[in-house]
Amino acid sequence: MRPRIRIVKGIWHEPESVAYLDAETIRRKYLAILEEVINADGYPEVATHDDWLIEQSLGFLSRLSPAQYEFQMLLGVTPKRGDQLVADGHRLRVYVPYGRDWYAYSLRRLRENPEMAQYVARGAISELFAAR
Ligand SMILES: Cc1cc2nc3c(=O)[nH]c(=O)nc-3n(C[C@H](O)[C@H](O)[C@H](O)COP(=O)(O)OP(=O)(O)OC[C@H]3O[C@@H](n4cnc5c(N)ncnc54)[C@H](O)[C@@H]3O)c2cc1C
Repeated sequence: MRPRIRIVKGIWHEPESVAYLDAETIRRKYLAILEEVINADGYPEVATHDDWLIEQSLGFLSRLSPAQYEFQMLLGVTPKRGDQLVADGHRLRVYVPYGRDWYAYSLRRLRENPEMAQYVARGAISELFAAR
């Protein structure tokens, strides 16, 4: 078995009793899990937009062939970094929310983590200026 394991920094706000809250600890644990999945012969799915984490992950993944892992990103988030990964020969899967309830789904996600609204607004504004 080569189980596919998507590794994410959880987006939901959770209490300290069940989640790591410190950014550096989260990054450290992320890489520890990635290493564990690689050592267990799993198929790691590195689902993050954190550039530092992507760079560190590339170090761990360098002993695998590109068919043995993939990166994953949300549609519209850090697309240039995604394009670069593909240009460098890595696989990238893009998560696309679709269907009748896309609006309710998006609102629910923003309600659960309002910080994301800032990211979305910042991203939309920079896209707007880049298009001019
Ligand atoms: C394919 C996929 C599936 C996922 N599934 C889950 C899941 O089931 N449960 C869960 O808890 N988490 C899930 N996540 C993670 C979640 O959506 C966020 O991406 C994550 O919590 C934010 O951390 P980061 O690793 O992207 O890095 P951060 O350091 O938090 O983000 C880096 C940069 O990416 C941008 N960014 C990150 N996320 C978003 C966003 N949602 N909208 C706009 N800009 C953003 C921002 O510019 C930010 O500065 C998933 C992620 C992916 C790619």
